[in-house]
Amino acid sequence: MVFEYLENNENKKEHDESLLSISQLGNCKMKLFLELKKLYKEEYSTSLKRIFRVGDAFHSLIYNEIIEKSYASGIRIVSSEQDISMPEKKIKGRVDCIISDGKELMVLDIKSCSAWSFDKYQKGEIPNNYRCQIQLYLHILGYKKGILLFVNKNTSKTFEYLIEYDKAFVDNLLKEINIFYDNMENNIPPEPCNGGEWGCKACEYFEKNKEEILNKLKEIKS
Ligand code: SF4
Repeated sequence: MVFEYLENNENKKEHDESLLSISQLGNCKMKLFLELKKLYKEEYSTSLKRIFRVGDAFHSLIYNEIIEKSYASGIRIVSSEQDISMPEKKIKGRVDCIISDGKELMVLDIKSCSAWSFDKYQKGEIPNNYRCQIQLYLHILGYKKGILLFVNKNTSKTFEYLIEYDKAFVDNLLKEINIFYDNMENNIPPEPCNGGEWGCKACEYFEKNKEEILNKLKEIKS
C-alpha cells in the first residue's frame, strides 16, 4: 500500500512559481522586488552552494536521529519537506519537518549556523526572518507551536528555540505582504531598509542602475 502510493506520486510535488517563498519574506525586499521583476539575479558562488549542501546534510542527520530515538522519546516525524501554500496571499513554503509528541503536531525547522551565530541565538537574538517563517507555517497549518533547531556547524551541538503562534504578529506580516504585492503591481521599488549601512548588493545594484530600472518598470505591465 505504502509503496504503491510512492510509485504513483513520484513526481507530484507542485512548484507554483507565481507564489512567493515564505523563507524569502523576512529577507531583503529590494532583492525580492528586483528578482520578481526579473531585473536582477543574485549569483551564488560554488562555495556558497556547497554551504547550502552542508545544511541539507545536517537536515538528514537530524531526521535520522529523531527517527532512531523516536521509540524512547515519543517524538515522531509525521512529514518532512512538506510543501504548503496560501494562494490567496500568494505565498508558499516548504516545512522542514512536522513532528508529533503524541499530543499535538508541531513545526520543526532546522538551521545550521556558525559558532558565532549559534552563540547569538542562544542569547535569544533570533533573526526576525526565522520568526516570520515559523509564524506563517503555524498560521497556514493551524498549529500552535514551532521549534527552531539550531545546529552549530563547528561542534554539531544543537539548541532548540520554541515559538508559539502569535496571531497579531501574523496579521502584521500579512499586511506587509499585501503592501509588497500592491507595490509590485504598481511597479514601486521598496525603500532600502536599515541593513544599508553595510552596502548590500541589491541596493548597490539599484542605485547604480536606477535610471535604467525605473525606465524598465514604466514599460513592465505587472
Ligand atoms: S539595504 Fe540591503 S537589505 Fe536593505 S533593502 Fe537594501 S539591499 Fe536589501
